[in-house]
Amino acid sequence: MSYIAPAGTAMSAQDLLAGLRRGLDPDAGEALSAMMRRVSGLPHCWSVSSGRAAMTLVLRAMRMARSNPQCDEVLIPAYTCYSVPAAIARAGLRPRLCDVDPETLAMCPDALARADFSRVLTVVSSNLYGIPNPLEDYESIAARNGAWLLDDAAQALGASNNGRAVGSFGEAGLYSFDKGKVICTIQGGAIVAKHGVVAEALEHLLADLPSSAAVESGTNTAKLVIYTLCLRPAVYDLVRRLPFLGLGRTVFETRYPVTRLGRPQTGVAAELMGRLDALADIRRSNATSLADSLDGLPHVKLPRLPAGSVSAFVRYPIRITDPAFRDRAIADLEAAGIGATASFPCALVDVPEVAALLRYPAPHTPGARAVASQIVTLPTHGYCPPGMALRVRGILERASPALLVAA
Ligand SMILES: *Cc1c(COP(=O)(O)O)cnc(C)c1O
Repeated sequence: MSYIAPAGTAMSAQDLLAGLRRGLDPDAGEALSAMMRRVSGLPHCWSVSSGRAAMTLVLRAMRMARSNPQCDEVLIPAYTCYSVPAAIARAGLRPRLCDVDPETLAMCPDALARADFSRVLTVVSSNLYGIPNPLEDYESIAARNGAWLLDDAAQALGASNNGRAVGSFGEAGLYSFDKGKVICTIQGGAIVAKHGVVAEALEHLLADLPSSAAVESGTNTAKLVIYTLCLRPAVYDLVRRLPFLGLGRTVFETRYPVTRLGRPQTGVAAELMGRLDALADIRRSNATSLADSLDGLPHVKLPRLPAGSVSAFVRYPIRITDPAFRDRAIADLEAAGIGATASFPCALVDVPEVAALLRYPAPHTPGARAVASQIVTLPTHGYCPPGMALRVRGILERASPALLVAA
């Protein structure tokens, strides 16, 4: 059967080979950094082993740059990737949750402004699915409360808000090159930072950072070859069942390498960065088709995009507000070979490992719980066939309770 992967970077065997060859060049790291600096508009960049490694390092640097030992909390959206609280734990800090608005999938600026900042070191954005958060607001709220802002652009490389790159708001930002992000090297990430005390602390931390272990980077390269060659719908149905690729799983894991980015991953990331605009155009055009086709379907809510923003649309997120309809929709899309997912399965407050880290028990985050129970993400990558959006509409219409009642 043919199966459209839920997310991914469409990449030819030639691109992969060119990237791996590029990794042999000792200047590949500098070339990648220069591209990341250009895209983010920030003066510092370091490439590291993953987005979570980037977050761990930035939080450690922020802790070093801020002398107050009282400030050991990181204020994060109550619905985001589980790697975020895992990286906070790895940095020896605690998460504090701020609820999200289901309409935007982002922390509501009013809720953020009302948060207790007495122990907050840093506020972290999420920019989920590549849709920019209200980052100008976060920046001013964090500054007003004496906290740093870390702009988590793991899913939003190439997105912008009023002309400013997502990832460049606040003191430092991060990008991920994992599976299902804007560009994929299996694992990888980058930190960007402005001039200042956090960048100076990062400079110290990065100077002592070990290189990637040969086994680690070799394994990731082997996985990348399989992943790249098999992302096409005609073969993806087979690979998605291979457990060692770890596709589609969301886990809370604090044991991961914190190293520099391996050479092959650096080369492939640099190669894909050169095609960032083309990759983004395809995703945006597929997201627009989905939005146009699904607009107005009963029980289906499209995300609200901030004015003046350009999204990266690493996936297209919709919410289906009727639980039985949502389950049926995911199952029917799956059966039709369209990789729709339920995204992160829980609000962070409902992840036991995260709840155990919270200083005060069970904050009330109904917005995050609503998102977790309603969200469905749809593919936008370059292997989505023409007409997919209309097929999705047809499948949702047939699964819809409105239609069941009418029949
Ligand atoms: C994926 C992701 C991360 C972590 O990136 P990895 O490279 O997978 O470690 C952090 N934040 C968000 C929002 C993510 O989606």
